[in-house]
Amino acid sequence: MSAAAPAVVRTRLVVTGTVQGVGFRPYVYRLAHELALDGWVLNDAHGVVIEVEGPGDAVAELIARLRPEAPPLAIVEQVREVPCSPVSEHGFEIRASPASSGAVDAPVSPDSATCADCLAELRDPGNRRYRYPFINCTNCGPRFTIVRGIPYDRPRTTMAGFKMCADCQAEYDDPRDRRFHAQPNACQVCGPALSLPLEQVVDALRGGAVVALKGIGGYHLACLAADEQAVATLRARKHREDKPFALMVGSLAMAQALVTLDPLETELLCSPQRPIVLAARRADADVAPSVAPHTGELGVMLAYSPLHQLLLDDIGAPLVMTSGNVSDEPIAFADLDARDRLAGTADLLLTHDRPIATQTDDSVLRVARGRVLTLRRSRGYVPGSLSLPVPTEVPLLACGAELKSTFCVAKGQRAWVSHHIGDLHNYETLDSFRTGVEHFQQLFELRPELVVHDLHPEYLSSKYAAERVGVELLGVQHHHAHLAACLAEHGLDPGAQAIGAIFDGTGYGLDQTVWGGEILLGDQAEFERIGHLLPVAMPGGEAAVREPWRMACSWLSAAGAGEAVPDTLHGEVEEHSWSQVRKLAQTGLASPLTTSIGRLFDAVAALCGIRARINYEGQAAIELEAACDRAPGSYRVRVTDSLEIDPREAILAVATEIATGVPVGTVAARFHTGLAEATVTVCTRAAEANGVDMVVLSGGVFLNQRLLTLCADGLDAAGLKVLIPSLLPPGDGGISFGQAAVAAARMHR
Ligand code: ZN
Ligand code: ZN
Ligand code: FE
Repeated sequence: MSAAAPAVVRTRLVVTGTVQGVGFRPYVYRLAHELALDGWVLNDAHGVVIEVEGPGDAVAELIARLRPEAPPLAIVEQVREVPCSPVSEHGFEIRASPASSGAVDAPVSPDSATCADCLAELRDPGNRRYRYPFINCTNCGPRFTIVRGIPYDRPRTTMAGFKMCADCQAEYDDPRDRRFHAQPNACQVCGPALSLPLEQVVDALRGGAVVALKGIGGYHLACLAADEQAVATLRARKHREDKPFALMVGSLAMAQALVTLDPLETELLCSPQRPIVLAARRADADVAPSVAPHTGELGVMLAYSPLHQLLLDDIGAPLVMTSGNVSDEPIAFADLDARDRLAGTADLLLTHDRPIATQTDDSVLRVARGRVLTLRRSRGYVPGSLSLPVPTEVPLLACGAELKSTFCVAKGQRAWVSHHIGDLHNYETLDSFRTGVEHFQQLFELRPELVVHDLHPEYLSSKYAAERVGVELLGVQHHHAHLAACLAEHGLDPGAQAIGAIFDGTGYGLDQTVWGGEILLGDQAEFERIGHLLPVAMPGGEAAVREPWRMACSWLSAAGAGEAVPDTLHGEVEEHSWSQVRKLAQTGLASPLTTSIGRLFDAVAALCGIRARINYEGQAAIELEAACDRAPGSYRVRVTDSLEIDPREAILAVATEIATGVPVGTVAARFHTGLAEATVTVCTRAAEANGVDMVVLSGGVFLNQRLLTLCADGLDAAGLKVLIPSLLPPGDGGISFGQAAVAAARMHR
């Protein structure tokens, strides 16, 4: 470099990604001032545009630091540099957006946990926001849950009704302030307030009460996690018998007293998204037995709003923090509705006057094989966009499936998967599905021309699709959507072929039977079913889903056994019910055929005496996995030449070993190992026969960590490339994105 003053240059930078509403412009403003550069920054339809002018080395430094030092909520995807001629500007300013700024990739960011700066102010008696439960700034606070329309400005959020005081307004207007253009900016003088003094809530919780608490995305029901009586009361009132409750803690140390955490789990727990992280429960965890019966894990999250933080700090002990609903209804988020619905469940209701625009459940993650596995993608992640491998030619809406449903809208290469809607089989959930679709269409300025749906004619999501007028419809097979979702999430070319082992509970098959143990060969556009689990009867149809003993009866019958009720089911099933169900299985009367691996797990769990009837989806399989010990060995699951997976020998072995007193944990472990071995065999053969080297493991059954690990390790060892969904759930929450990927790939071809 020469000693002379470097020449003045001017560069235009076009920054894309999540860069609006996250403090990106003030950040650029401060950086430019620090480097004594001239120019301006503004938001436009594509993201943020910057022009900087000054000595070449200072401009280069700004470019070099732009990405690494960006604000915490910003996701910089691309920075395009265009050299310009210097114009001798003086000073650096934030300019207004051009009038017609149109749609952007990320008009609003996801909700984010209270940042360290705000937490410090919250705990500082000298700060004007000391103990203010709604403190936030450009780097943290509610976003998606308060937005009603675009562009993302205060009048179009649920903060519209609060007029900023002079102090807040001054912060909002000052580009050097951490609260510059922070739309939810507020303080105790001008902002939202709690309906009750916090001390009253703390006292009630300490006394064993159940409290309904308005949070960021909806109401929670809370009580002391160590208080068995309080937890049992909550369970009884919520009509939730066994499904584990999530816990909220006030610090990492408090979490570490409950569960063992590896570095990745710790990182997830402390991330600004603040999901519920499922992790192994410590033997000495001080948690009431009713919190999470029959499992070795606990779901833990860190306080993510200032209100939560104050509450947890004051109480100093973990709280049960479960969604505020009764059984399977959607989470309550509107105040009047919450008052009605939670009246009989909670002893006390703590609410506030900042409305929630969209109900958003807590997200749930776990780590498997050193990688993130998403069980529910909602608060903290939505409405972040996902990338489609090829752009969709027309704007589209993908309606998803039925259980744990989400929908997805897509335009160009961008896809936005909705918050978790829930099980779409009642009026309330359908209503929130409709409202959600309208909201997303408005938010992303998108009019779907194509509506994609599941092939199941009875799904409410399929019926909704059929009701949309003036659009083209496309039906996508359920398991193909699972396969495509995983391929697309990993950014694979739409024509890249893989073997898919797609194992789940239920999906409508091309032959109109209930699929769920499918070996597919396909890419994002097309698929072929090249193998599957041996079909058996589901005696009584849906009843067999709720009553795993029926599947035990069906599988025993298919294996030529099961004339009498097995010992493990004595006391659970009457002789005459058993023989009736056996007759149904054998005649096929009222008994659709299924290849579901989920139902196979049900059968084995019932044969082991673990569970004859379930109280929530997947319960039998979850408890079977939790029961596994470390015993070696496996039961033989045969793979035929036509790639049919035949577990009849294993079923007989399960029944025999249980009858001869082999521990349940050993039987459960051997069944997992046998099924995994067969999965590896069938995938390896299918891959060889078709010249493919990639295998996708997906479907809700793969939430089973033991099965997932055994299958993936085995396929790895066989030299195959294994793909597992990470950003989206392997379960039906990922279906809508898969449907969008199939549609985009077909149009592309
Ligand atoms: Zn903050
Ligand atoms: Zn104020
Ligand atoms: Fe599924």
